[in-house]
Amino acid sequence: MKKVIITLVIMALPVAAWGFYKPMRVLAPELNGLTCINEKICLDDIRKREAAELLYLESAIVTNNAVGYFYNSPRAIFCATENCYESFGFKSPSVAHAVGTSGVVISPRGWSNTKIIHEFVHHIQAERIGVIQMLFKPDWLIEGMAYYISNDNMHDVPQRYIEAKKRFEKWYVELGNEKLWKTAENL
Ligand SMILES: [Zn+2]
Repeated sequence: MKKVIITLVIMALPVAAWGFYKPMRVLAPELNGLTCINEKICLDDIRKREAAELLYLESAIVTNNAVGYFYNSPRAIFCATENCYESFGFKSPSVAHAVGTSGVVISPRGWSNTKIIHEFVHHIQAERIGVIQMLFKPDWLIEGMAYYISNDNMHDVPQRYIEAKKRFEKWYVELGNEKLWKTAENL
């Protein structure tokens, strides 16, 4: 009996995680009703495929030129509806979200290079610094870098992020690009 219960619990764990931690669904968006056209791009509205492919390509080039290459290219989930975005556990006012080193989820309000570059920067931060370690890094480094590299115009952005961007910019310009990750690791 005990064995049966243990087996049931083990079997139920992924199902529970699937239900409770929705961002995990980035790993298998097909189960959320999306179509993945390749390893990198999934959509809920396949008609927007070309726009998604172009946004991915342009945003990846800018991100990689600025802060380095992806160890693994992020999977990008392009949601054309809020329903799709919410099915991954996110909702307005957030426009897009990086999920560790797994991928990024983009709301219908986040289909722009600026917003996607922002999340790609978070993806690279997770790869270089580590998902857990990132939580202990200063906001000005994590958010400041994402806003600065994506060249965000900072409209409708909380004041603390405006300050984070300014602080990062000052630090980064003095430091120089080559020392970025080595220095960031030790902050
Ligand atoms: Zn951010």
